[in-house]
Amino acid sequence: MNQDQLKEYKAELEKERAMIAAEIAQDEKPVDFGSDIDHDEEATDKSEEVGNQLAAAGELKDRLNEIEIALGKIASGKYGVCEKCGGPIEPEILDIDPESRFCKACKLQSDR
Ligand SMILES: [Zn+2]
Repeated sequence: MNQDQLKEYKAELEKERAMIAAEIAQDEKPVDFGSDIDHDEEATDKSEEVGNQLAAAGELKDRLNEIEIALGKIASGKYGVCEKCGGPIEPEILDIDPESRFCKACKLQSDR
């Protein structure tokens, strides 16, 4: 992988990181249950909403973690190398998923 490509992936990852960090910050604002809950139905809706938000926040944090790992690899010159087989990760994978840690073959294997 040449330096230009590396720079592009890095920019992509940094953009994504900023976006996700902003989303997490938004999700972590305390949820306003309101002081006037007098309908059971409304309270149930709210707690479901909170549950969904928490699940989404967990996914975002996982994603953020992957991005941090990928950025660390760029810094140490190991970006684009499959963690499983040590082979190069195909550009077509990195284009879709710049934080990917595995090559196409290993990804397919782990999905099974
Ligand atoms: Zn692999």
